[in-house]
Amino acid sequence: MNNKSNYKYLLSDLSTLKGVGPKTVNLLKKKKINNIFDLLWKLPRTFTDRSLSSKIRDLHIGENQTITIIPQKYYFPRIRNLPNKVLCTDDTGELDCIFFNSYEGYVKKILPLGKEITISGKINRFRNRYQLTNPKYISENSSLIRKKHNTYSLTDGISEKVYNKIIDQIINKLPILEEWHSEDILNKFNNYSWNKSIIELHKPENIGKNKKKFYQRLAFDEIFSTFLVNSEIRKKVKKNKKESKVFDLNKQNKIIETLEFSLTNDQLKAIREINNDLCSSTKMFRLLQGDVGSGKTIVALISAFNSINSGFQVALMAPTEILARQHFNLAKKIFPKNLEIELISSKTDTKEKKVILNKLENHKIDIIFGTHAIFQKKVLFKRLGLIIIDEQHKFGVNQRKRLSDKGGNNCDVLLMTATPIPRTLTMTIYGDMDLSIIREKPKTRKPIQTYSKIETKIEDILKFINKEIKLGNQIFWVCPLIEESKKLDHASALKKFEFLKKKFPNQVSLLHGKTNPEEKESILNNFLEKKFDILVSTTIIEVGIDFPNATVIIIENSNKFGLSQLHQLRGRVGRGNKNSTCILMFKSNLSENARKRINILKKTNDGFLISEEDMKLRGYGDILGFKQSGIKNFKLADPIQNNDLFLLAEKEMKRIEKSNEDISKFKPLIKLYDRADIINDIV
Ligand code: ADP
Ligand code: MG
Repeated sequence: MNNKSNYKYLLSDLSTLKGVGPKTVNLLKKKKINNIFDLLWKLPRTFTDRSLSSKIRDLHIGENQTITIIPQKYYFPRIRNLPNKVLCTDDTGELDCIFFNSYEGYVKKILPLGKEITISGKINRFRNRYQLTNPKYISENSSLIRKKHNTYSLTDGISEKVYNKIIDQIINKLPILEEWHSEDILNKFNNYSWNKSIIELHKPENIGKNKKKFYQRLAFDEIFSTFLVNSEIRKKVKKNKKESKVFDLNKQNKIIETLEFSLTNDQLKAIREINNDLCSSTKMFRLLQGDVGSGKTIVALISAFNSINSGFQVALMAPTEILARQHFNLAKKIFPKNLEIELISSKTDTKEKKVILNKLENHKIDIIFGTHAIFQKKVLFKRLGLIIIDEQHKFGVNQRKRLSDKGGNNCDVLLMTATPIPRTLTMTIYGDMDLSIIREKPKTRKPIQTYSKIETKIEDILKFINKEIKLGNQIFWVCPLIEESKKLDHASALKKFEFLKKKFPNQVSLLHGKTNPEEKESILNNFLEKKFDILVSTTIIEVGIDFPNATVIIIENSNKFGLSQLHQLRGRVGRGNKNSTCILMFKSNLSENARKRINILKKTNDGFLISEEDMKLRGYGDILGFKQSGIKNFKLADPIQNNDLFLLAEKEMKRIEKSNEDISKFKPLIKLYDRADIINDIV
């Protein structure tokens, strides 16, 4: 390296490596290894120890052995398919090296007669002679062979030897990066530098040593870079001064008093936190996180009301039209009659839409509800003061930032999500936002009774739902995920639909991945209006819609789902004040582990707790919402095992924020570890 401190070497293309041709580059790219830095995280799984010396006399058949021999004689048969052979000796005996499909020139080159050569490989015995067939480890330089050789989980088409060579090459050229961490932090990791840590990480004897300080330091780097990016986004959002909102709390309280229920303490706390943001001179960028049915909508609407009261317009975006309409209807019910409330939906005709757009532009509308359509370019606001986004899981960190930019300087942003996740993950995925959490469920809410049932007892279930239908209740029937295949999901849902239709004529409808959006809206609307009793579907129904009459959800093949997903699915029922039931169906008797999982669901209705258990059982990568977050998986850090590192990273980040420290020294860290592809906006 001409510049030993330049991190950019690590970001260079794979083709700059010696011995890496276009074929290897393509194979690696398929594994999402795009540059040299990515390769650093291709860690050995185990190693083969080739350091031990042996003599021919003491060779063990069938084992990997390393010996130093002298080639004595070549046998190059002129008959096709017969292998080339080299007779080799040491001072204790003879051994034949056998080469299939090889060229004479090659054999002569690697095993020159009379020279001491070290070879390693599995020994076999043939016609009473020791043999080593197609030896891969051969060198005149015995130190290249006599060592521990890392074994990788191999990418098809790339051999272990090639991996070892590539990775050795990178480690040898590793730039020495200027330390970015403070002394205090570094001390906690035995002062391991980044460079030294990487070298340690790749030593065969350190495989899997994730408690060691060098490993922890590297995991910390990863977490910390994510937190830094989050912090930078937050800083950017807060940098612009906005016009503080000024409103009369009495008016807010009047609305709260007229509600049919009293708000929970967590709801009130969230309202206070949001109000503080609205009134401050910096932009709000806040996430309202709460389990399904925890009552986020009313909190959002109160915030909307306060913003309107201080002379601003509000836009609320929901993922589906039905949900937008439900929010719209609630607003019309609880807001004073003099507010201008509108909904844009696909049913709004062109003329009407034009009128609405015109009114929006002239501030004749106070609040508008709709799907993403309300954020199209042609939709202009006169004085937009608050954007509320409900249940938009696909909103990654990039989209959030863009949204906040789009609203303009005076516009606050409130995001809502019903995906409770453990705190370490929330910090990772949503660390760019401030956070309000609703943990408490409304007191009137009855727990959803959860049962498990083996598939063969379907008659019992049919009897049960028959009874429920007679009581005027409705049923969700969720069909299994088969091998993650949409096509098969579809087929199984269709089959179940036909089956149930025979049992309950004219009472069943079907919704699946191929149902087009308009049809879907209309089916859901009909279900809402109780035009039929049983809705068979794959897992596609969005969260958030209130179906007050739906009291039963049946989930087939439920061990295919994660706990958090099951919990979210069951949240489709139990939103009214009736008793409700969730039946988890199984194909065969439950394993010990499956029983454990189900018991967690039966015991608690706390989505945060469930997600934590889910993460312990399945790892964080599969947790609901993480995949859509736009954040790449960690390479070393683990939100369960490394709770302490996450807390340390949070503390350090806050220290840096407070001290207003210059973060330019972290540039290499952020550039290297870019986990959300957002850094171009940041550094
Ligand atoms: P989510 O948090 O999933 O968006 P919603 O806001 O849709 O939940 O609320 C679910 C249901 O609970 C709605 O019917 C709502 O009217 C009701 N609700 C909200 N807050 C309370 C409360 N404090 N007490 C009783 N019911 C409530
Ligand atoms: Mg909701």
